Amino acid sequence: MAENNRSASTEDSGNKEGSDFIREIIREHNRSGRFGGRVHTRFPPEPNGYLHIGHAKSICLNYGIAADFGGKFNLRMDDTNPEKEEQEYVDAIIDDVRWLGAQWTGMRDDDPRAGVIWASDYFQQMYDWAVELIRKGLAFVCDLTPDQVREHRGTLTEPGRDSPYRNRSIEENLDLFDRMRRGEFPDGSRTLRAKIDMNSPNLNLRDPVMYRIVHATHHNTGDNWCIYPMYDWAHGLEDSIEGITHSICTLEFENHRPLYDWFINAINLGRTDDGSGPWGKKIHHPQQIEFARLNLTYTVMSKRKLLELVKGGHVRGWDDPRMPTISGLRRRGVPPEAIRNFCSTIGVAKVEGVVEIQLLEHHIREHLNRAAPRVMAVMKPLKVVIDNYPEGRVEFLEAVNNPEDPAAGTRQVPFSREIYIEEDDFREDPPKKYYRLSPGAEVRLRWGYLIRCVGVDKDPATGQVVRLHCTYDPATRGGNAPDGRKVKGTIHWVSAAHAVPAEARLYDHLFTKPDPDDVPPGGDFKDCLNPNSLQVAACLVEPSLVNAAAGSRVQFERVGYFCVDRDSTPQRPVFNRTVTLKDSWAKVEKALAGG
Ligand code: ATP
Ligand code: MG
Repeated sequence: MAENNRSASTEDSGNKEGSDFIREIIREHNRSGRFGGRVHTRFPPEPNGYLHIGHAKSICLNYGIAADFGGKFNLRMDDTNPEKEEQEYVDAIIDDVRWLGAQWTGMRDDDPRAGVIWASDYFQQMYDWAVELIRKGLAFVCDLTPDQVREHRGTLTEPGRDSPYRNRSIEENLDLFDRMRRGEFPDGSRTLRAKIDMNSPNLNLRDPVMYRIVHATHHNTGDNWCIYPMYDWAHGLEDSIEGITHSICTLEFENHRPLYDWFINAINLGRTDDGSGPWGKKIHHPQQIEFARLNLTYTVMSKRKLLELVKGGHVRGWDDPRMPTISGLRRRGVPPEAIRNFCSTIGVAKVEGVVEIQLLEHHIREHLNRAAPRVMAVMKPLKVVIDNYPEGRVEFLEAVNNPEDPAAGTRQVPFSREIYIEEDDFREDPPKKYYRLSPGAEVRLRWGYLIRCVGVDKDPATGQVVRLHCTYDPATRGGNAPDGRKVKGTIHWVSAAHAVPAEARLYDHLFTKPDPDDVPPGGDFKDCLNPNSLQVAACLVEPSLVNAAAGSRVQFERVGYFCVDRDSTPQRPVFNRTVTLKDSWAKVEKALAGG
């Protein structure tokens, strides 16, 4: 199956694209000529964890907008914090964005990192601009400890207090900042702060910290720096340097927008469009726009919590198929198209909400129904002996790979005297309307013959059914009776001599509660981890699956959608259940509509 589908984010989704409030703002900008008709977005992950389905929403939105407006899209590592960032995360992020189908500027197939932008490459430029703010009297070196800075900050109802270092001379500030950079001071002993307003009702504007001292080795810049820029200072500058037009972020940054703008305006103070101002040419000023982050039922999305699940051994790693990470979803068998269609359907809004996880499952089914080849596998085998079928004979029956897709062709499935069917497809005392197998009843074997149950072997001790005896009608090859007699039920099966024992990993929601964070005081989201989120079962699959490549997605007929895991070997194929066949979304939708 195509692992690397890099088509546009909107191709198979339809509807909502092109009509959300962010695109409206962009159209307005294009009309007014605000950015000269340019559209340039970015996805700026901090490489301190794997990407999750929430990030997918942001990627689809940012890349989708760039694609819709013929603009550009940057993939930028926001690697401004040396302490929590790791190489493994960087590699996974790049891989996941590519897999999802977003194409960033400068992307190439022969070099995974081509075109990826590193915020840390801007450290010198950011530093120079910080010096400029000091010279303009808009920033100062503060000797308060982090605790003291907090105390001076005030609260929503109380104004803050000026730092006693606020009125240092420009010369002293320049000197101290230079020495901060050269490593003269220990961690946490000084900061560079913007000189804004300790009385601002917006706490973010109360002389926010721009730089802190951290003597740590950075994965990109090594030991070149021991001062690191804070997010609010760094982020707008990164956007500006890259010429980002629309800096799209989640709602919690709404209160930071005035600061985003203040910093760029502060740099532009004394600058002009033509560069004739005392400080030169104005820098680019992007527009920050906020949207509501994705929340999903039965899911936690914070990287801190996901890391806790990994570190605590509650899951088998970041790409555990139960994780909401992109790599987890991918390993589980979720196609990128399903994630893109899901993101397109949920759209973007200005108010937070929670999306039902069944909606994601619905999109997974919808795509796999069209794309996944059908195969037969038996989860709870019950032996059937076809008494009138010659012993030792094997014939190959033609099976359609995907009724939804004639181009998927057919395959040959071996049939013999002994087969396995699902335990559930036989009832000794069938209820009304039970069209499967029962004593005396006839049923159709998928792609095979009609068989009739003529006997039942039981375990004498337990009375349990251990084997069925059937007869087949040789005139019904392919499943239809020449006399036109009606047989309603069709069941799947595997030939006992040819079936391959395999492992099925059956997944359920990772949490038992729709909102895992809804715990009593003193509780923890891990309290509602679902003990049955993974069940490992043995199953029997048709031999065509022995050499299926890891990542291949199939439908086990009448059972569910499965994906070959990377733990799979020809001796022991391993399948992850991506999703069951039953569409519970339809039910949810009905319930929602009914109120
Ligand atoms: P954390 O999980 O620790 O809060 P984060 O999700 O903010 O971290 P970043 O790497 O900073 O992690 O996120 C990169 C981008 O993805 C940001 O622009 C952020 O707004 C966006 N993003 C993060 N979570 C979601 C979400 N649930 N829905 C939509 N966008 C999100
Ligand atoms: Mg963040």
